[in-house]
Amino acid sequence: KIVASSEVEQSYIMIKPDGVQRGLVGEIISRFEKKGFLLKGLKLFQCPKDLAQEHYKDLKDRPFFPKLIDYITSGPVVCMAWEGDGVVASARKLIGATNPLQAEPGTIRGDLAVQTGRNVVHGSDSPDNGKREIALWFKEGELCQWESVQTPWLI
Ligand code: ADP
Ligand code: MG
Repeated sequence: KIVASSEVEQSYIMIKPDGVQRGLVGEIISRFEKKGFLLKGLKLFQCPKDLAQEHYKDLKDRPFFPKLIDYITSGPVVCMAWEGDGVVASARKLIGATNPLQAEPGTIRGDLAVQTGRNVVHGSDSPDNGKREIALWFKEGELCQWESVQTPWLI
């Protein structure tokens, strides 16, 4: 059965083009795996402009919006759906502050990035946006329904 489960919290996590181009894909995926969340969807994807604009529609009036769209569409991104209790807030903590210079060491942005406009990774900011963004970036059939054998030891 290949379906998006609606009961469990999910976050849309995306490695941005700079993260892919700098060879940080494995490093970033590792952090979510080690934390203990469950990977339900994963693909390398060249994002079209209209999808980037829809994803970031709440920021469309900000001065940096055109540059943000150019950045996100400048090369392939890695799209992921991660699942687990509290995954949205926890992923935001693992990712760190929007400005990498203010992100704590130990976070992805704190360890791996310098500029706000090149901050290597995206994470949904609410469970509702997690659902919205996963529906936006993944087609039906691209998400897998499975349970990790590790899960009982991690929760
Ligand atoms: P976050 O990704 O931490 O949720 P926001 O939702 O506020 O941050 O912004 C979305 C993305 O837009 C940021 O991750 C960053 O790539 C870009 N961005 C935000 N603010 C700026 C800025 N002042 N200048 C350039 N890019 C920005
Ligand atoms: Mg945001």
